[in-house]
Amino acid sequence: MPEMRTLVQSMMVVLVRLLLSGILKEVGHTHPYHDIHPIRPVYDFIVVGGGSAGAVVAARLAEEGTWRVLLLESGGEAPLESHVPGLNLLLSQGDADWNYRTVPGKQSFLAFTDDSIPYPRGRVAGGSSTINALIYVRGNRRDFDNWEAMGNPGWSYKDVLPYFKKAENYHGEFNNETARYHGRGGPLSVEPKRWRSPVAYGFLKAGQQLGFKVVDPNGEEQIDSVQQGQESSGSQLHAGR
Ligand SMILES: Cc1cc2nc3c(=O)[nH]c(=O)nc-3n(C[C@H](O)[C@H](O)[C@H](O)COP(=O)(O)OP(=O)(O)OC[C@H]3O[C@@H](n4cnc5c(N)ncnc54)[C@H](O)[C@@H]3O)c2cc1C
Repeated sequence: MPEMRTLVQSMMVVLVRLLLSGILKEVGHTHPYHDIHPIRPVYDFIVVGGGSAGAVVAARLAEEGTWRVLLLESGGEAPLESHVPGLNLLLSQGDADWNYRTVPGKQSFLAFTDDSIPYPRGRVAGGSSTINALIYVRGNRRDFDNWEAMGNPGWSYKDVLPYFKKAENYHGEFNNETARYHGRGGPLSVEPKRWRSPVAYGFLKAGQQLGFKVVDPNGEEQIDSVQQGQESSGSQLHAGR
């Protein structure tokens, strides 16, 4: 029953928020949005949407130092539970979500009420990065190479890889092999998955038994393999922070 699920989810959110407010206060967490500047009459740049892309664009423009940048976001502050990886499931279908649903399909989601399912997109500081699952998988090299082949110089995987590496602070084993695909010192912390469920172990083992290799999804081989997950590490670092 969807109503019962919503009620249980709302109660869980209240409980988790209560718990987290105590913990975050204890560790001296201060809210990043309390330093509010008055709105000026003129800006050099106005960025609409404070999600993964918008927040980074605005931050990079502001780094210049003299430009006045306004970042407009339709949603509110990131809720407390967005700090904890794994609690993102509580954020879907709540205040931080646009609460879209898929159009009822004739051939899809037939087992669901109204033949449609929720389609979460973040409506909150940090956008969808505040409610996402933190799995770090770059686009496939063939897509980038294809874009270049279509007449877009500079978009091949070889050309964009240095920027992926520059953005990354990789906490996995760093050797000649991994250093070809991973970077250190960037703002985005990434690490091989620290914990996985018994089912996930079983899935990897089954893949190996079928002859697939277990590989780094952002390394040399991106397909024809089973991939060990990589995720942003520590507390959930979304673009709004
Ligand atoms: C539940 C979920 C799990 C995911 N898991 C992963 C994952 O594990 N790994 C991964 O790589 N990707 C994941 N993704 C996808 C990833 O988070 C998104 O692709 C990415 O965040 C999109 O970035 P964006 O900047 O394009 O949009 P968003 O981050 O969604 O930002 C758009 C922002 O614009 C705001 N906005 C829209 N219209 C207006 C307006 N008119 N005025 C002001 N503001 C407006 C929105 O509120 C939103 O904050 C997941 C996404 C979801 C929803």
